[in-house]
Amino acid sequence: MKDYANQYINGRWVRGGGGEFTSVDPFSAAPWVTHTAASSEDVASAVAAAEAAAPEWGRTPGVRRGELLDRIAEALTANLDLLAEIETHDSGKVYRENKAQIAFAARNYHFHAGNADKLTGESKQLDNDDTVDFTTREPIGVTALITACNSPLSQLANKLAPALAAGNTAVVKPSEHAGTSTLEFARLIEEIGFPPGVVNVVTGAGETGDALTSDPRVGKISFTGGAGTAKRVAANAAANLVPCVFELGGKSANIVFDDADLDRAVIGAVAGIFAAGGQTCIAGSRLLVQERVYDKVVDALAARADRIRLGDPMDPETEMGPIAHRAQYESVLRHIDEATEDGARLVAGGPVAEPSDALFVRPTVFADVRPDMRLAQQEVFGPVLAIMRFGDDEEAVRIANGTNYGLASGIWTSNLTRAHHIGKRLAAGTVWVNTYRTSAAQAPFGGLKQSGYGRERGTDALLEYTRTKNTMIDLSDRTRDPFRLGV
Ligand code: NDP
Repeated sequence: MKDYANQYINGRWVRGGGGEFTSVDPFSAAPWVTHTAASSEDVASAVAAAEAAAPEWGRTPGVRRGELLDRIAEALTANLDLLAEIETHDSGKVYRENKAQIAFAARNYHFHAGNADKLTGESKQLDNDDTVDFTTREPIGVTALITACNSPLSQLANKLAPALAAGNTAVVKPSEHAGTSTLEFARLIEEIGFPPGVVNVVTGAGETGDALTSDPRVGKISFTGGAGTAKRVAANAAANLVPCVFELGGKSANIVFDDADLDRAVIGAVAGIFAAGGQTCIAGSRLLVQERVYDKVVDALAARADRIRLGDPMDPETEMGPIAHRAQYESVLRHIDEATEDGARLVAGGPVAEPSDALFVRPTVFADVRPDMRLAQQEVFGPVLAIMRFGDDEEAVRIANGTNYGLASGIWTSNLTRAHHIGKRLAAGTVWVNTYRTSAAQAPFGGLKQSGYGRERGTDALLEYTRTKNTMIDLSDRTRDPFRLGV
């Protein structure tokens, strides 16, 4: 078993004081690496290191910060195979997908490398001529960056790239189920020559995240994970009045109108729910299909789902790997049972996996799901699709918006006017038209309602890690009435 038992704090590797734990490979079902949990003292040292490094890093010219960010991107690219293999062992997601996501992470570091010397303020024209007023964007200081059990390096790029570009330092906490690639990433940070304390990595389970988000020296929290955990983080943040970005779960609606190119729509639906085994926040887990093409789409999806190749996630032929960890696997199976109890019609997959130690769930499709069923409302975070029928545009929008989530949505139609009208009315942070799961470094991403708030990627993300200062300079030689200074 590989030893990844050290944390990266203040440019040094230190063994966590909170005891050992292992990460289990969900395909082999065997523990494959050892980690240690950070004790509360370790977390405090990491925050202290980030706090001590913050003033100098914030003063470092943007062009220099940008150079170092470019070097992260280059290091990720050079180590793509190793990092993707690590993530495959930790999470069970197929190697091919991990490679693509880490390559995208590199793209995001390049994007923010280019932003690091382009932070600007504004000059404001006031009501009088002899006062100069301008704004500047300043770094916040110490950021706490927490990632979920899927796609750790890709999620980290969404947070760390803009945080560093804007001149902040960071304490990073990956999931206990998928922390290994982030420790390997810390080795790259060390090799690149980042000043000690600018990037720190602590590992551990919920208590580590709890200690980190309670520390009053943290100035901004960015969290990816479930809404329940986010509420605990929000309570810690509220105690210190700390702003947060929350990237949470979803129950995203992928809507197929009867004028759509159905072959493309079915491919989009498969990508939406079965890529990464459905273990993505943006999973198009509800497929809304218009009456006239309903049966055709259900049949096509069931047939395609049955053909999906499950297997060793390192094998290039494999299309879907196992579920990331046992608790999540059991939760997915519970959702399948509940959907059956609620009367949804199973048309593909189901609870019985191939006899294997691996945590496989077969690609599962339920048709005739009604909006009041649990499968239509609750995030599964697994390969389970709920197909729902609708009659007209009004009904499609009503069903699509009828959950507590608001992360992403898809519209499949050949009518661009309809796409614009429907897109405007969807309560979701992302609207895809005739595509699904497409991302770009420039495009902001985030949710509303229980899917969270704040935005990642693009320049919106950069601004999340700054605060605005306003400076006002009186150029006049007047002596003013002390009780009328504010006017
Ligand atoms: P969790 O909410 O269980 O965990 C997320 C992170 O929070 C982990 O690092 C976890 O550590 C940590 N954590 C746990 N308890 C606390 C605490 N009290 N204080 C601070 N941090 C804590 O989510 P999962 O890892 O299971 O990920 C699945 C969820 O993430 C799904 O809901 C999914 O939709 C969402 N997600 C959202 C994305 C988005 O961008 N919108 C992207 C990807 C996933 P540990 O794991 O060690 O307990």
